[in-house]
Amino acid sequence: MLRGTRQMLRVRDAKELVAMARSYAKRAGLQVVERAEVLTPRVNHGRWIADCSCGGGVACDPSMTVAVCFACHDDSDSADPVVAIAPVDWSGVDVAGVAMLLGDRPRAVRRNWESPETVADIAQESVNYGVYDAILGR
Ligand SMILES: [Zn+2]
Repeated sequence: MLRGTRQMLRVRDAKELVAMARSYAKRAGLQVVERAEVLTPRVNHGRWIADCSCGGGVACDPSMTVAVCFACHDDSDSADPVVAIAPVDWSGVDVAGVAMLLGDRPRAVRRNWESPETVADIAQESVNYGVYDAILGR
């Protein structure tokens, strides 16, 4: 199983995620910024994440078209961090295929994917890792 925002941040949907972000920002005295920059999802150690422009990795989820960077910053040292809400583009991502094939791997550290890898690439990599050796009689 791949973990997404719902499992990592314990929210049910994007509405709850945005509410959590706004609540956190209010408590922390941070500004909320809605970014136009579109994030691209990938899988790292069994988690759906995206790379924010600040360099941070943010949780994302195939059921949500937004992600939140809770400590986003520009490259100046003086600026306060902001809570950034950004769109995530899932088009072209074979979510079911990626999840199914990576789910065959027993170790989370081996569950990684990023575009433009195909499900065939993942399958071949799993063969190379020996994931199917027992099935293949090796
Ligand atoms: Zn950020």
